[in-house]
Amino acid sequence: MPGTTVPGSPTAAASTAAVPASGADVGGAPGGGVPAKGAGTAGAGSRSGESTLALKRRARRINRALAEQYPYAHAELDFRNPFELLVATVLSAQTTDVTVNLITPLLFARYPDARAMAEADAAELEAIIKPTGFFRAKTKNLLALGNRLVDEFDGVVPGRLEDLVTLPGVGRKTANVVLGNAFGIPGITVDTHFGRLARRFGWTESDDPVRIESDVAELFEPRDWTMLSHRVVFHGRRVCHSRKPACGACAVANWCPSFGLGETDPAKAAKLLKYELAPGNEQLLGKLLAETHRAAEIRMESQRRVP
Ligand code: SF4
Repeated sequence: MPGTTVPGSPTAAASTAAVPASGADVGGAPGGGVPAKGAGTAGAGSRSGESTLALKRRARRINRALAEQYPYAHAELDFRNPFELLVATVLSAQTTDVTVNLITPLLFARYPDARAMAEADAAELEAIIKPTGFFRAKTKNLLALGNRLVDEFDGVVPGRLEDLVTLPGVGRKTANVVLGNAFGIPGITVDTHFGRLARRFGWTESDDPVRIESDVAELFEPRDWTMLSHRVVFHGRRVCHSRKPACGACAVANWCPSFGLGETDPAKAAKLLKYELAPGNEQLLGKLLAETHRAAEIRMESQRRVP
């Protein structure tokens, strides 16, 4: 939008908004009330000063820029069927996808379906999933999950949100991951990265995952929800980190009202980038860009090389 001051431009952010303290999320004041739709409050990251149409346009512009940056974005948990994705997602609580991916080959070789999981020996299951943390609680959840799938759903993972959220250890986030990626049903996955970035982008002011989901859903067509979730999470992991966002090396800086929250010097910001965008990983990035259809496989190979 040349010639105009847009809420998302770095110039606007730098000239009209105080730069929040480093590490602070924008717009998601703890304990803050849920605002009426479209009624923003002052401050970077809010909907203030933007019409719904302008907000939608800016949100979609960000999505397009993220699509250009991450044409290889995908679910970073490895799975071959809805059961595996459901279990992997349950295990991913409080740990990284990389850690989960390291243990799931053995886990699914041993317990390939809900029936096998329901009959698992708790001590053996605990030993396999231990690296993911909270392994006692997760073991209980997986045993209960297997039993409930067998008892209520004939051992088959249901493809409806209202059924999925009745399963032990499964909330809306997990349900949306499974629906979007194993069933092709559009879903917005609000994890810690998605919530943080949605606030920084000014798409929501809320800390509540359900409210964030509904605020963001208003801005995009359902067909975009699943890939949008992957791209935003990719961006949160690689560029827009919780503590040190790399604003100076960010592909959506032009449309982000929170520009300036992190390092703005391009050379210094580039050093903050992670995974395939990190300095020294140009070969991996080139491979991902050249073979987007093999992105999950390429990622798995690169993760296996990491000790
Ligand atoms: S890294 Fe990018 S998305 Fe994150 S706050 Fe900075 S400009 Fe905005």
